[in-house]
Amino acid sequence: MSAYPIDRIRSEFPALHQTVGDHPLTYLDSAATALKPQIVIDTINQHYREESANIHRGLHYLSEKATKAYEAARDTVQTFINAEDRAEIIFTSGTTASINLVAGAYGAAFIKAGDEIIISNMEHHSNIVPWQMLHDRVGCELRVVPITDSGEIDLDAFEALLNPRTRLVSMVHVSNSLGTVNPIERVIRLAHDAGARVLVDAAQAITSRPLDVRSLDCDFLAFSGHKLFGPTGVGVLYGRRELLEAMPPFLGGGDMILSVTMEKTTYNHLPYKFEAGTAHIAGVIGLGAAVEYVNEIGIDQISQYEETLREVATAALTDLPGVQLYGTAPEKAAILSFLVDDVHPHDIGSVLDSVGVAIRAGHHCTQPVMQRFGIAATARASFSMYNTRDDVDRLIDGVLRVKELLT
Ligand code: PMP
Repeated sequence: MSAYPIDRIRSEFPALHQTVGDHPLTYLDSAATALKPQIVIDTINQHYREESANIHRGLHYLSEKATKAYEAARDTVQTFINAEDRAEIIFTSGTTASINLVAGAYGAAFIKAGDEIIISNMEHHSNIVPWQMLHDRVGCELRVVPITDSGEIDLDAFEALLNPRTRLVSMVHVSNSLGTVNPIERVIRLAHDAGARVLVDAAQAITSRPLDVRSLDCDFLAFSGHKLFGPTGVGVLYGRRELLEAMPPFLGGGDMILSVTMEKTTYNHLPYKFEAGTAHIAGVIGLGAAVEYVNEIGIDQISQYEETLREVATAALTDLPGVQLYGTAPEKAAILSFLVDDVHPHDIGSVLDSVGVAIRAGHHCTQPVMQRFGIAATARASFSMYNTRDDVDRLIDGVLRVKELLT
């Protein structure tokens, strides 16, 4: 295996080359959103400069060019997650929209009063609230898999929750607040054995490990462009073709129809049935460029590299007296949630910011995780393909400064 091209990668992320006051920027907030490589920025610029046109509808040169680039991004995403059919790739505005689409369209058609949906206690709010809304609409029941002290799902409890009324299991692959990598293959197998469908929230997983929807055998998978080095406001819903075919449309409007009369509308074929209105064309094309960039570096290489950063950072933080880590599962992504003595996480974040270290502080849109651990919030450092061991050192120096100033 060739050496990991960290210098090249860092040179290709312009946002990294800034200072915060007198300090070089140390960006440890990629779990919130990842920085963008130059090629993504250039691709979006080029789209607006040279091919800014609406897609699918125009017969002119620019429209054809934009349509080609948009549809090429679909092919790129299809290959990236190994979907069988390009029609299984629906462009949405992000993970949240993808999950809401499944809740709205699949849920409305196939989930009835008394049916059960299983989620876990470590879900992002975007994988909780849409199901609660569905509960309010159709009267289905929400069952929640508890999490252990180390921040893992309780698999025995999950198995015990599965029953003939379970219609859908919707679960996060990699937790954004604990970093836990859930045994998603096992979850999918158990759910399928019980006759339930599975939606995988891959918002974090997609950036840190290879994902293959066919070997996972999931029914739906959702992710956002912006965590995968692409633009904000764009994302993907993968759905098994026969399920997408059977689902009614979610949003009605332009592009999702074949014909409209005042009496009746016939819907477009997949994937367009679920892409109503003018899409985030530049965003989709930018996402395609981001996936190509990841392919060029190699998702396996990125995954191994982040794992070494995780090990180093975990060991260094664990060694600091007064630092408490939340999420200590053996299988983790490079996402570290922690508290320092009784310092409020916002103060940790502010002190770190004063030395150029960008982390996140808060509940990370996972309030039930905070409730589970009896805390209000954590500080969270998340590492990505462009971080280094120097960044780990700066984080540790920053935490020492927090201790010096605030404890
Ligand atoms: N699920 C997880 C695990 C996430 O980390 C996030 C983003 N923090 C989301 C869902 C929602 O993603 P978005 O806001 O891009 O729709």
